[in-house]
Amino acid sequence: MLELRPSCEGCGKLLPPNASDAMICTYECTFCEVCALTKLRNVCPNCGGNFAPRPIRTRAQLDRHPARTQAQPVFIDEAAHARFFERYRDTPPGER
Ligand SMILES: [Zn+2]
Ligand SMILES: [Zn+2]
Repeated sequence: MLELRPSCEGCGKLLPPNASDAMICTYECTFCEVCALTKLRNVCPNCGGNFAPRPIRTRAQLDRHPARTQAQPVFIDEAAHARFFERYRDTPPGER
């Protein structure tokens, strides 16, 4: 089950469970669409993977399985991102 982290790790934008612009990597590193696709160019700074839109969770299911509320630090490891980007910039996600 996804944690549904509450905000972008790149800029701090709030990303509630019904946000249409939340994107996640396979480890659920969570960014807004602008940070994920423009700033990070679809390379996760923490693992080198790609991002996909985070599915919403219905309100009924949120009652049973609430989203995480603990804020995520706003931090991008620029050096790590640069290394991953250099390695994967020309490699489609399915071949990384
Ligand atoms: Zn952002
Ligand atoms: Zn990641």
